[in-house]
Amino acid sequence: MKCSACKNGMLHHKNKSQIYTYKGKSITLNQPGLWCDFCEEGVLNGEDIAKTEKEFDRFKTKVDDLLSPKEIRHIRKDILKLTQEEAGKIFGGGKNGFSRYERGQVKPLLAISNLLKILERHPTDLEYIINRDKLG
Ligand SMILES: [Zn+2]
Repeated sequence: MKCSACKNGMLHHKNKSQIYTYKGKSITLNQPGLWCDFCEEGVLNGEDIAKTEKEFDRFKTKVDDLLSPKEIRHIRKDILKLTQEEAGKIFGGGKNGFSRYERGQVKPLLAISNLLKILERHPTDLEYIINRDKLG
């Protein structure tokens, strides 16, 4: 396929190092796509974008200083011994909130992420939140 941008090169499906930037921080990812062998143009389809989307998402989570899906699952399940449904009731985000966080579908609010970080260090403080809840 001929490149429509420069009309000189040909497009080939290959990986190309691309720099992606988020909030002033950059990461180099191996981006598959149809890349021109003459100019810098590339054509990316949904599948190509999906290949780097997860990695870029992990990078953004790090830049935002949020807990990763794996960390959230670890704190909820192993440290606080809560089901996803219980965690949703206590921290908000609805019945499926934690399922979405832990699959990486939705990012937690910074407030939820930071609260979980504190509870990771002080898990017994969870009782304080639950007891207050019962009183109300
Ligand atoms: Zn070109």
